[in-house]
Amino acid sequence: MKRISLLGATGSIGLQTIDVIAGHPDQFELVAMSFGRNVDEGKKIINKFLPKFVAVQDKEICEQLALEYSSQDVHFSFGEQALIDAATYEGVEIVVNAVVGSVGLLPTLKAIENKKTIALANKETLVTAGHLVTEHAKKYGVDLLPVDSEHSAIFQCLQGENVRNIERLIITASGGSFRDKKRAELTEVTVEQALNHPNWSMGAKITIDSATMMNKGLEVIEAHWLFNMPYENIDVLLHKESIIHSLVEFRDRSVMAQLGTPDMRVPIQYALSYPDRFPLPQGKSLQLWELGKLHFEKADFERYRCLQFAFDSGKIGGTMPTVLNAANEEAVSAFLEGKIKFLQIEDFIERAMANHRVIGQPSLDIIQEVDKDTRKYVQSFIS
Ligand code: NDP
Ligand code: MG
Repeated sequence: MKRISLLGATGSIGLQTIDVIAGHPDQFELVAMSFGRNVDEGKKIINKFLPKFVAVQDKEICEQLALEYSSQDVHFSFGEQALIDAATYEGVEIVVNAVVGSVGLLPTLKAIENKKTIALANKETLVTAGHLVTEHAKKYGVDLLPVDSEHSAIFQCLQGENVRNIERLIITASGGSFRDKKRAELTEVTVEQALNHPNWSMGAKITIDSATMMNKGLEVIEAHWLFNMPYENIDVLLHKESIIHSLVEFRDRSVMAQLGTPDMRVPIQYALSYPDRFPLPQGKSLQLWELGKLHFEKADFERYRCLQFAFDSGKIGGTMPTVLNAANEEAVSAFLEGKIKFLQIEDFIERAMANHRVIGQPSLDIIQEVDKDTRKYVQSFIS
C-alpha cells in the first residue's frame, strides 16, 4: 500500500490521479490532498476517500468545510503553509504535485526534505528552480518521478540503460490549438479558440502554453534538469497525433520511443506504480492500423517564438528561467482574463527577459524575489 498526498486534486491531472487511485484500492491510499477553490469537486473527493488532511486556498472555504466535516476525522487548513503541510504529511510516501504554477516550488522542496518521493506534474517548479530541486533530491536521496507524458516516455525508455550512452532526447509536440494557422493569422485569435486543444483535455494554463508552444519550452528545461542533459542535446519534434510521447537516441544510433493512446493516466499511474506496472482502469490499447500514418515535422523557432525564448533562457541559466516562467504565468493569466492579445504573451516574455540582469546559481530567496519582481514588471504593461 502506497500512502499518497495529492496537491491540486481538483485539477485535470488531480482528477485523473484520483481515477488511478480509485482503480487500485489495494495499492494506493489517499492520505492528504489539496485544492484551490473548487469546493464541489473537492467535496466529492473528500467523501469518497476521507483523507486525514485537506489543504485549501482560502480561510472561508477552510472554515466552512471544517464545520461540515466536524464529525469526521478529516483536518482542514488553508493558505501556503497548508500546502506545505499536505506535502509533508506524516506517513505519506509519495507526493503528487499537480498544482499549476511556481506556487508548487516550496511544497516540493519541503516534501523532499521530509524524504517523500515526488511524482512531479507541476513543471513550473523545475523551470523556476531546477538546480535547487535536483540538488535537494540528490542530497536527501529522493526520487523525482516525471508525470508529464514526454518525460515519463523518456524515463520509460531509459529503464535499464546507462546514462553515459544517451546521445539525444527528442521531445514530441502536438503543436497545440493553432498548429494549422500561420503566424499572421494569430493576431486576433480568441481565448475560446486557444482553449480548444486537438488531442488533450487539460487545465487552462497549460492549454494556452501548448498554443504558444511555451509548454514545450518548459518541457525542454524540465528535461534538462530531470535527465541532466545539455540543451544542445535536446530536440523538439512536431508530431500531431500525440502517439509517440518522446524518444531517446543512444550513441550507437539506436532510438527508443514510448507509444500509447493519449491518456495522461498512463504516466500518472507509472509514477505511482514505479518500478512496477499495473493494469490501467478502462485503458484503451493502441491500434496503429486504425491510424495508418504518423506525421513528423521539424520545430519552427520563428513560428513558435516561445520555444526559442525557453532554449535561450535555459542556456543563459541562473535566474533567467525564473523570469521566463514568471512572465509567462502573468501573461497567460492576463490573456485568459481577456486583458491582452494572444501574441502579446510572447512580447511580454521577450521584454521581461531583455530587462533582466541575470544572477548565477540563485538561492531560493533570490528566485522568489526575481519571480515577484518579474510579475510586477509584466503587470505594469498590462495595466
Ligand atoms: P488545472 O488548472 O486543471 O489544476 C490546477 C490545480 O491546482 C487545481 O486543483 C487548483 O484548484 C489548484 N490550484 C491552482 N492554484 C492554486 C494555488 N494558488 N494554491 C493551491 N492550489 C491551487 O491544472 P492541470 O491539472 O492541467 O496542470 C497541473 C500541472 O501539471 C501544471 O503545472 C501543468 O503544466 C502540468 N501538466 C498538466 C498536464 C495535463 O494534462 N493537464 C500534462 C502535463 C503536465 P481549484 O481548481 O480547486 O481552484
Ligand atoms: Mg507534456
